[in-house]
Parts: sequence; structure tokens; C-alpha cells
Amino acid sequence: MSTAEPADAAQRRARPLTVCYPVEALPKPDMAMLERARHHLTKIDEVLVAPRDAEAFHVPAGHFVRIVGVDGPQVGDLNLWNSNDLSERFFSGKTRQLHATHVSTGDRLWSSLPSLRPMATISHDTLGWYGFDADGGGIHDVIGTRCDPYTNRLLSGGDYHHCCHSNLTRALAKAKGLAVKDAEMHVHDVLNVFMCTGFTRDTHQYFMKASPVRPGDYLELFAEIDLLAALSACPGGDCSTTHSSDVAACHPLKVEIFRTQPELLAGWTPPKRSAYPRTHGL
Ligand SMILES: [Zn+2]
Repeated sequence: MSTAEPADAAQRRARPLTVCYPVEALPKPDMAMLERARHHLTKIDEVLVAPRDAEAFHVPAGHFVRIVGVDGPQVGDLNLWNSNDLSERFFSGKTRQLHATHVSTGDRLWSSLPSLRPMATISHDTLGWYGFDADGGGIHDVIGTRCDPYTNRLLSGGDYHHCCHSNLTRALAKAKGLAVKDAEMHVHDVLNVFMCTGFTRDTHQYFMKASPVRPGDYLELFAEIDLLAALSACPGGDCSTTHSSDVAACHPLKVEIFRTQPELLAGWTPPKRSAYPRTHGL
């Protein structure tokens, strides 16, 4: 068939769109409960993530964790695992389809198949005011993957060992006592915390621009299950120009873990794994 535009091209392009999933059926988090609970927090742990490096940390179910900007604009790449089962991990693609390209307060971070349950719920986001800018850019995307040394070698021919993929690999290897090559297999596509990204209007290419994060800004998550998390302070810094090198100005990120008063979570229980029987038609 010809690749020429048909006579009815305009009609074909004008067909109505449908949001892919009937997301009104999604189980809703109890945001009123989380809002009450997050006003009675006691800090139980704090971790500072050095620039161009990553740290792993545990967040028990029913606890809150904040990722906080400190002395300069800095993007963080976040991985999440079920702390009792590394095969259950954050599923950025399905989170994107169930919510949007960028996530904020009230959205949930879903786990991989066959579990497909909320691992965490975003309980507060001090950058929630940003919305989408004139370029179509938004904050905290689940579009991008994570900077990695393989793509860097493909595009530049050189090797750089402090991409987020490598930082997360080292952090997980240390936390679980795994060989680096074994740990690497558990690293997955991230939540790009504080990163400002979108798709160009004309060619629909993934773009980044300077993160608007200020010292003190934070993204707060409520752990729905026992979590092992790892956060990389991306070598791209504010991700305004470049990553996968030592060129960009980079800053640390702070992680704060809090418990709340258990009675404020009355009625809440960790979500169950998907009940699909995994028979796949056989
Ligand atoms: Zn990165």
C-alpha cells in the first residue's frame, strides 16, 4: 500500500481518544488517613546520599520516607523492592499507564508482575505546584529509564562508572551482600525524583530541563509493604544539560524515614499481591 496521505487523513486523525485503562476502578488510597498520620511523625533514620553515588535503606510497611533536596538542585533515581523478595520491584511502565507520565500526591508506585500492587503511595510533594510547563515538562517522571554505562558507551565510546545504574547496583550489592553482577540484575527503571522532563512537541523526543527543586523541597512516600529502596544522586545534577560524566554540578540528597502513631493507621493493612491464578489459559 502507498505511504501517501489518504484523502480522509483528517477524519482518521480526528477520531476521539480513550484513556487506555478504566482507572476509575483503581482502589483509592485513603488520603485523609495519610494526611492525619503524616502530621504525627517521629524520625527514626536519616541517610545522606553523596553526589554521583547511591545508598540503600529500609522503609518498613506503614512508615513514611522523604527524599529531600539539600544544598543545591539535584535529581534522584529511585528503585524499590519488596525487602523480603527482590523479584517484586517497582514497575515504572505500569505506574505510567495507571497514573501518568509524571506522578505526585495521591499516585501510587506499583510493583512488577505477578504481584501488581501498590508498593508506596505518594503522600506529599512540595513540587506539586509545578504541574506541566509550556514545554510540556513535569516533575517526577516515570518515562525515563536511568542513566547507564552501556548507553553511554554506545553514544560516547567511553566508560563512566557513576551512572545511576551503576550507583544503584553498588548500593544494592552492599545492602544485600550480593556480587556486583548479581545485584545488577535487580536494578530496574526508576522514578526520576525531582527531574523535569517531557516530550518535545515536534519530534516527541524525551527531553530534560533544569529541575526546579529548592533546598527543603521533598517527595514523601507512604510504604504500603516492607521496602528496600535505593536512591542515586544522578551525575546529571539538576539534569539541565548533561549526565553520564563528571561535568554537571552535583549535590547530595537526604533521605528521612519516619514512623507515625499506629492508631492513626487503624484499618489499614498492606495490599495483597494480585489474585490472578497465573494459569495463562492452560
Ligand atoms: Zn542518572
